[in-house]
Amino acid sequence: MRLILLGPPGAGKGTQAVRLAERHGIAHLSTGDMLRAAVAEGSEVGRKAQAIMARGDLVPDDVVVAIVADRLARPDCARGFVLDGFPRTVAQAEALGRMLHEHQLDLDAAVELSVDEAALLARVDNRVREMKAAGKPVRDDDSAEVLKGRLDNYRRLTAPLIAYYRERGLLKTVDGMGTIEAVSTAIDGALGGDLVAQ
Ligand code: AMP
Repeated sequence: MRLILLGPPGAGKGTQAVRLAERHGIAHLSTGDMLRAAVAEGSEVGRKAQAIMARGDLVPDDVVVAIVADRLARPDCARGFVLDGFPRTVAQAEALGRMLHEHQLDLDAAVELSVDEAALLARVDNRVREMKAAGKPVRDDDSAEVLKGRLDNYRRLTAPLIAYYRERGLLKTVDGMGTIEAVSTAIDGALGGDLVAQ
């Protein structure tokens, strides 16, 4: 099964992607995780991405597309994958389409987690408070202010992908505001019995 998850930052894509990957035995590909790993390693990509990520802006398409192309070529993607945080622009979606086409592969679905933005801001505030109370490090980009900028970027650059995938008959929209379990169940329902059984 080959899926992408769409939705604004904080919508719970990461949590649902992990569950989908476990449930279906497919690879979980989070470009955010890959970029954070590159920053931690201090690689060339990491050095390019660090300041951009801290501001909550998008890393250039060519950088992210190269990382994904590399990752998709690894053997664990042969059984399928769930992309979390990619594509984030129409150019990235087109690049993904070309990559899959080269390998004669298709996407099965683009799952959109639909959420209320005011609630997202409240969630982020809560998360930051909990992390601080637990003495855990807070990510640079984890603040209501940065989230507002990221939501702006989402509306401007990423939300057009909803129409992009709808036009291709791949879009499944799910209410992302429920509990983790409820959202998982809704995703399974949206993917349909045939797809879930694969
Ligand atoms: P995430 O963990 O998916 O929220 O990603 C964290 C940050 O990594 C984002 O705010 C961007 O700066 C960067 N990033 C992740 N995925 C992408 C992508 N597909 N295109 C551009 N930048 C990305």
